[in-house]
Amino acid sequence: MFNLIIFGPPGSGKGTQSVKVAEKYQLKHISTGDILRSEVSQETELGLKVKHIMTTGELVPDELLFQILLNVLETNTDVKGFIFDGFPRTLAQAKELDKQLEARNSGITKVLSLDVPDDEVVDRLLKRAEIQGRKDDNRETIGNRLNVYKTQTTPLLDFYKNQEKLNKIHGVGGIEDIFNSICEVVD
Ligand code: ADP
Repeated sequence: MFNLIIFGPPGSGKGTQSVKVAEKYQLKHISTGDILRSEVSQETELGLKVKHIMTTGELVPDELLFQILLNVLETNTDVKGFIFDGFPRTLAQAKELDKQLEARNSGITKVLSLDVPDDEVVDRLLKRAEIQGRKDDNRETIGNRLNVYKTQTTPLLDFYKNQEKLNKIHGVGGIEDIFNSICEVVD
């Protein structure tokens, strides 16, 4: 299997680029944010548990993400690989991901990290707020999501750097230019 992880602060374009990468390399795109939002809108048991946490921009507990991960792996057994978008977000999630992939004789192939400055992501998210109306795209929650990303998720970059899997991508510019930089790394 060929498994990628894409990191980046909220508003860095992870979702947009993941869709393009998944299509080009025929990978299954897994966005834990999308999975969670769908649980919330369907008012499932899981959705009801995470609704409030998500509106504040805090992280959903690892145990719930472990359940989602198992479900993803069990329901996608004949894919070429995955692109994980928004997951892992904590060291515990990264370790669990390694463990579950190893148990399936697989692993993470490469890790991409989109670099976008804070003022740029805030601008992008405020614009998205007007268009899409995502509940967590408001000034207060955006600040918290950036903070949560910096404190809880960026330490993971060192985890993958130590495994020599980390590739930083300049995330400012046109969507196609950024996509080309990603393809150079993936190829
Ligand atoms: P963004 O990167 O724009 O903040 P996402 O769509 O990836 O947004 O995630 C939205 C929210 O869903 C997060 O703020 C968090 O509450 C929750 N979430 C998504 N993925 C995870 C994860 N791997 N671990 C914990 N919480 C998560």
